[in-house]
Amino acid sequence: MLIVGLTGGIGSGKSTVASMLRECGITVIDADTIAREVTLPYTKAWTKIKQTFGEEVIQADLSLDRAKLAAIIFNDSSKRQALNSIVHPEIYKRMLKQLLILFLKCEKIAVVDLPLLYESGYMLKFIAKVIVVYCSEEQQKQRIMARNNYSEEEANSRIKSQWPLEEKCKRANFVVKNCGSLEDTRKQVQSIVSQLISSKEYWKYRILF
Ligand code: ATP
Repeated sequence: MLIVGLTGGIGSGKSTVASMLRECGITVIDADTIAREVTLPYTKAWTKIKQTFGEEVIQADLSLDRAKLAAIIFNDSSKRQALNSIVHPEIYKRMLKQLLILFLKCEKIAVVDLPLLYESGYMLKFIAKVIVVYCSEEQQKQRIMARNNYSEEEANSRIKSQWPLEEKCKRANFVVKNCGSLEDTRKQVQSIVSQLISSKEYWKYRILF
């Protein structure tokens, strides 16, 4: 199965591109959705987070207070590492299980939407091609300020906490320039899907099975 990574910067348009890939019939596994599933009340990760960060990150309905956790780890790299070491293995385990199911269903292509594909590095060994979604830093800032109600300062510090988007683009097999209209982005996505379907990795798999 051709496993493709989808990544980018905060607010660059990964979810937007993921829905366009789905419109083309491609299955997209979303790391953010999995992150929520593996931290539901009484899961292994939820229990460890409660032990490590205390009752203050648990809400009255027992769900995690994501905003509070995000604020705790944002300026504290050791706490961020502690949280990642609890949550990431659970995310990757579930992601690999979902990929295995798709493989057993003879799916030819699967896309994994992983915001921190390069920063965490773990899934790279399973991935044949990477799509990076790019827009300018100013567009990233404007979009996340509008979507999340961030101040300019908050938006800037969140952008700076990730790898520079240009660096991710250099390593990508495909770059989607999500700088213009959604229609323009959709055309690029459709062209990438055609290229993936005609790639030799895809055909190698089709000939074998
Ligand atoms: P995050 O990293 O926070 O998960 P993301 O990379 O998935 O974000 P999206 O949620 O797809 O990014 O897009 C961020 C915001 O920008 C959304 O509100 C979306 O509607 C808007 N947006 C995405 N692409 C465009 C575009 N081409 N033109 C205008 N707005 C856009």
